[in-house]
Amino acid sequence: MTTMYYEADADPSLIARRRVAVMGFGSQGHAHALNLKDSGVDVIVGLRDGSPRVQAASDAGLKVVNPETAAEWADLIMVLVPDQVQKGFYHDVIAQRLSVGDALFFAHGFSIHFEFISPPGYVDVGMVAPKGPGHLVRRQYVEGSGVPTLVAVNQDASGGTLALALSYAHAIGGTRAGVIETTFKDETETDLFGEQVILCGGVDSLIQAAFETLTEGGYTTEMAYFEVLHELKLIVDLLWEGGIEWMRHSVSDTAEYGDITRGPRIVTAETKAEMGRILAEIQSGEFAREWMAEYEAGSPKLTAARAAIAEHPVEATGRALREMMTFMVAKTPKDDV
Ligand code: NAD
Ligand code: MG
Repeated sequence: MTTMYYEADADPSLIARRRVAVMGFGSQGHAHALNLKDSGVDVIVGLRDGSPRVQAASDAGLKVVNPETAAEWADLIMVLVPDQVQKGFYHDVIAQRLSVGDALFFAHGFSIHFEFISPPGYVDVGMVAPKGPGHLVRRQYVEGSGVPTLVAVNQDASGGTLALALSYAHAIGGTRAGVIETTFKDETETDLFGEQVILCGGVDSLIQAAFETLTEGGYTTEMAYFEVLHELKLIVDLLWEGGIEWMRHSVSDTAEYGDITRGPRIVTAETKAEMGRILAEIQSGEFAREWMAEYEAGSPKLTAARAAIAEHPVEATGRALREMMTFMVAKTPKDDV
């Protein structure tokens, strides 16, 4: 059984005694920095001069300095620049500014587990990883709740790294929802696996293939969009509330019969075998090396895929339909500088 930690298991005074530098002000960075500030923690945001995020961070009432100054000042550094950037960022900004007693924290184990970063033995290396996007980490905190959070310790120079991670998790709202202790290895490998085979890769590929099948079959793009993308949220909500049984109970018996007879023809034994191969590539570090090589080559695959998906008919259809939906604020990457 996994040990769960809640509000009473954390000592808020530990993080309150720290000088925390949050590096980056993106999805996670803005949520961590603002939640820490609202919890009374002494926090500074480290951003490059000229970063488009400086304005947003200062407008939110945060102290912003360049990453070098932040690293110099802090005794706890939370690294929330993109994973692929962390290796260079650590080398250029952090490595030479670590002293005994400092803590180096992450929200994902990628750089440490795959050894793109190897901190000196005299610093604490920990993880506080909310299991949700930053926008939710902030919103839930403001509303008085929190996002379930993982904590892990990779290096415990002081003997107090777990307690410090729990205290940090408390300050960003994580202990309100529940905190699980894990390892850098398990967090990294399960996180990558989840986003590749189901949450991002699996679902995105299913949506595109199903949309193409319907429209090639002569159905309208609007019909196809509602069927394969819009309705997905309604089904996922049911799964989230009560698992597969509850979802199957809530849909029609016809839908349930189609589910049990056709689902296994979509995700076959071969699909599961491929999942196993994907997991093996993650575990061996092959995926991590491939991704870092892609980044170091200027991210050509990522750039091409971003352009391609913007052109896909499911996206063009969805953009037009979402504009008309008065109950939502439609989002595009351009809205999120
Ligand atoms: P992001 O891309 O949203 O934000 C990155 C921030 O770093 C931005 O403020 C950007 O301006 C800054 N930045 C980019 N390149 C930089 C550079 N070269 N030097 C200095 N600053 C730079 O990133 P994110 O999604 O918040 O991810 C941060 C960490 O949090 C990652 O380790 C990620 O795995 C982890 N994480 C993310 C999520 C999520 O939902 N996005 C969830 C859990 C954990
Ligand atoms: Mg993830």
